[in-house]
Amino acid sequence: MATPRKRTSTLMQRGREWLDDLRARLPGGSLSPVTIAVASVLLVVVLGLQVMLDDEKISEPVIEPGAVVVTDNQAERDQPVDLPAAVVEAVEPVTDEPEPSWSYVQITSGDTLELVFRRLGLSPGLLHQVANIDDYGQELTRIRPGDEFAFDLTDEGEFRALRTALSEDQWVFVEVTADGLAARTESRQLETRIVEIEAEITSSLFNAAKNVGLSDNMTLRLASIFAWDIDFALDIRQGDRFALVFEEIYREGQFLRQGSILAARFINQGDSFEAVRFDAGDGPDFYDPDGRPMRKAFLRAPLNFTRVTSNFNPRRFHPVTRRVRPHNGTDYGGAIGTPIWAAGDGRVIESAYDRINGHHVFIQHGNHIVTKYLHLSKRQVKRNDRVRQGQTIGLLGATGRVTGPHLHYEFLVNGVHRNPRTVDLPIAQPLNDEILPDYLTAAEPMLDRLEALLPPQVLLAASASTAE
Ligand SMILES: [Zn+2]
Repeated sequence: MATPRKRTSTLMQRGREWLDDLRARLPGGSLSPVTIAVASVLLVVVLGLQVMLDDEKISEPVIEPGAVVVTDNQAERDQPVDLPAAVVEAVEPVTDEPEPSWSYVQITSGDTLELVFRRLGLSPGLLHQVANIDDYGQELTRIRPGDEFAFDLTDEGEFRALRTALSEDQWVFVEVTADGLAARTESRQLETRIVEIEAEITSSLFNAAKNVGLSDNMTLRLASIFAWDIDFALDIRQGDRFALVFEEIYREGQFLRQGSILAARFINQGDSFEAVRFDAGDGPDFYDPDGRPMRKAFLRAPLNFTRVTSNFNPRRFHPVTRRVRPHNGTDYGGAIGTPIWAAGDGRVIESAYDRINGHHVFIQHGNHIVTKYLHLSKRQVKRNDRVRQGQTIGLLGATGRVTGPHLHYEFLVNGVHRNPRTVDLPIAQPLNDEILPDYLTAAEPMLDRLEALLPPQVLLAASASTAE
């Protein structure tokens, strides 16, 4: 029990110093018996309180604050203090092992460890040693804004130790020891709590999510789970609802961050989609209540929905030709340069430029489906390239005959234009028979929670789709 001893002796030292200090302040350097008595009583009270506050030490027999004070009077000042043996033993190691007093340094942008050391008056030589310490030196010098370093310095400003987070759940300490600097790690207690929320969209997905305390990152993750079912750029409507069961991570009792989504339901224009997180052996992923993967052959939208300007209003009456042009695709307004993704795996069958379509890319998927991407500012694939779903094939632009920057996206099945946001696609294969029962067992309580959180019967009738 090194710590309590350290604490006890520190308290005793403090008490003695306080009395010495009191004496020094008084004329003649002596104390009247009354003063000593009062001071002693005060000291007993102060030390007693401190000890009581420190619950770890209550059972430690050496903690007898009274003993310190009672023996400390004028006559014995220069004599060895007559303490019980146990206390003397406890006092021994104290003097060269004072309690750390941490001062905290928050790293801001532009900071280097060198600057931090210089500000604290610590030598470049020490920094060099820290940077070269076994195992952790490199990590220690790789600092980022927001990192926090704690320094333990002596009253004279001498370095005793530093501490910083090595990872979310580990501290690293660098300490002065008899053999020079040494590094060690200490784990930090992480705790996972499972929480649930439910929300209705009145203005935007992000606002609804923010109102129930979801971080933007969580909102993006929620949307990414349903990216194969819902076009978050164009199809979110007022009255859409969602519910989430997810983890919150606490560290040492303090909220740290939101963690994994365990299950989610999203009701979009009256259609309900559910997903449950499950690890079928290749790492966690999301499956529907029947055990079919949420990932499917085609993304509903071939670009990041957060980059789409929702108020883009494609004009069907063409301003150049003055003729109403048949519109066989979906238009996504957005900033020039927004990455455009292949909606599914496939092969590039055209990558070219013409005056009408501007820079454009066509992709063949299997035998029946072709997707087309027009008006790009830049193409990033060539004819015959194989592409993967989500791969960037070009950048959004305003090339060709357009009224403003946007992606014109077409989805053709056997040569016929279909709405990519509503077209029925082949259903993915469910988890195999070996793992499916495990999934269904694991999913059931999650689906029950979603059902309780956001029962489908409270749904309003689906608003009419504005999809063409
Ligand atoms: Zn268009």
